[in-house]
Amino acid sequence: MNVLLVSTFIILAIALAVWIPKFRLKCAIEARFPERFVAILEKNVPIYPRIPVELQQQLQLLIKQFLHQKKFYGCGGLEITDEIRVTIAGEACLLLLNRRPRVYPGLQSVLVYPAAFVAPRTEVAAGGVVTHSRQGLLGESWGDGRVILAWDHVQQGARNFADGHNVVLHEFAHQLDSESGSTNGAPLLRNLSSYRSWAAVFSREFATLQADALEHNTSLLDQYGATNPAEFFAVATETFFEMPAQMAEQHPELFEELKKYYRIDPQEWL
Ligand SMILES: [Zn+2]
Repeated sequence: MNVLLVSTFIILAIALAVWIPKFRLKCAIEARFPERFVAILEKNVPIYPRIPVELQQQLQLLIKQFLHQKKFYGCGGLEITDEIRVTIAGEACLLLLNRRPRVYPGLQSVLVYPAAFVAPRTEVAAGGVVTHSRQGLLGESWGDGRVILAWDHVQQGARNFADGHNVVLHEFAHQLDSESGSTNGAPLLRNLSSYRSWAAVFSREFATLQADALEHNTSLLDQYGATNPAEFFAVATETFFEMPAQMAEQHPELFEELKKYYRIDPQEWL
């Protein structure tokens, strides 16, 4: 009798442990998207009013899930506000539109500094960590479930959504990249032929950017992308979302690969 009771209790405890988080997530997703969040998106993510209503609704669902599942931590004295959470979640979730209901499953926390921060480590892309410094660090994406951002550069990147520079898009592209098991510029794709096409186009475009950087030629893509294939994918993502018409004209094959991957065409939002 006691054994039966204990077994029943254990099964019940396991069922509750599985059910409660799912129930909480369902409640969070079904809750009304607050008007003040819409106001934050309209102010800080200028692309938001330009995307179709159906995509705005998708984005709101993704943002609610993101805010429910990820923890934000203020660093260097920064106090986390709804403006910080919604702006970062809004831009990060742009990369997920039309693609999947999973919202960065490997990501647990977003650490935010008030401005560029300094970390005592070198710029090495290995073991899932991608670090880059441009006068201090603007952002970092770690394979262990963390993204670190400088809030002043998040605001700057969000408000000017046409210059090809956006630290949130950049770091969350690294998060997508790391879902394949290694951060190497090849995120999870649909099938083998997608990988073949991706590898051919990205290798060619990466080599071209490296040559441009070496020869001091101008280029549409930020030459930081010539650092390695992981940075190339992150930089190409920034350009794809912020300068789609120029990319479609100057790098049509790269644009098509990214259009297939992200399942949207940002040219339609111009
Ligand atoms: Zn990077």
